[in-house]
Amino acid sequence: MKKNPFAARLAAFAGVLREKQLDAAVVFNQANVRSLTGIDCDNACLLVKADGTVVFHTDFRYVPMVHRVAPWLKVDDIKKVGGARPFRSGRAKLLKMGYESSVTHARFMQLEKAFPGATFADIDANVKELRAVKTADELAKLRAAEALNDAIWSEAQKKFKPGMTEKDMARVIQHLMIERGDGEAFETIVCVGKNAAECHHVPDDTVWNGREPVLVDMGVKLDGYCSDMTRNMVPARPSKLYKKVYGLVLEANRRAIAAAKPGMTAGALDKVARDFLTQEGFGKAFGHSLGHGVGIEIHEAPWAARKQKMVLRPGMSVTIEPGLYLEGNLGVRIEDLVLITETGCEVISHSAK
Ligand code: ZN
Ligand code: ZN
Repeated sequence: MKKNPFAARLAAFAGVLREKQLDAAVVFNQANVRSLTGIDCDNACLLVKADGTVVFHTDFRYVPMVHRVAPWLKVDDIKKVGGARPFRSGRAKLLKMGYESSVTHARFMQLEKAFPGATFADIDANVKELRAVKTADELAKLRAAEALNDAIWSEAQKKFKPGMTEKDMARVIQHLMIERGDGEAFETIVCVGKNAAECHHVPDDTVWNGREPVLVDMGVKLDGYCSDMTRNMVPARPSKLYKKVYGLVLEANRRAIAAAKPGMTAGALDKVARDFLTQEGFGKAFGHSLGHGVGIEIHEAPWAARKQKMVLRPGMSVTIEPGLYLEGNLGVRIEDLVLITETGCEVISHSAK
């Protein structure tokens, strides 16, 4: 029989439950469920007991798929944990339960009815921390997704022509992502000229004249894993200010990549880029955090942001994306995806910058 490729993560999760002296936990978040079983299902709940036993709860529609993809899993009806009837699990009463604070209030009330007399402790952050460290198979999938993203970026640039709108250019990228991968990991951002001063600009009908800079933030999804990269098409004759800003952002990106290593906090990594840009007099124009983990979700732990205490560990992914935004004028962001290794980091975005 096939083995659960996420068995180690599941065992670590059961360990967390024992540490927190919980009897069991219910996991509803789709990405969390997937990270513990490999199964992507929009109506599922895992019941994980402190002894490591696990039951996958879903409805009739998904049972054959679960049997096929994960024959090691015991499957039961989701109404038992998401319904209003008391839950029965052998003779053991489950009185100390872990749950995700992100569930809806209605769901929480159902849980209170399903586990009468139980107290509930939030374990959402624990699962997310466990999936911040990727398995070898997940790291391979991230590398493959990011490599495809590089290839699509290189091909897209050849198809960009003056006279195209931001929407046209975004469509070129979207089509390539559907042809070559599993579509977009998030809505592609294309910013012509001063539109790049808005960090999350939605592509509109602005026409590219072929001489303005273009900022593109894109990520293709492949095999259930996301990728993420930002690049800028720099005009042949950029303004003095653009050149200066580009140089500073690139230097901040390089310094953070050189500094990224296990043992440091995600907050300290953010600080490397932030201190440099602040010392250059542009601190206020770097209004977002340095980066985020990428995996099943496009944004996940670790969060490379001010004061974040999560310690970087080998196997974590994190983006390094400093940016400077001068309202009404210009914007530059350079984003690479890196994997934390035993000694530093491996940059898996290979497009020229
Ligand atoms: Zn991005
Ligand atoms: Zn990003």
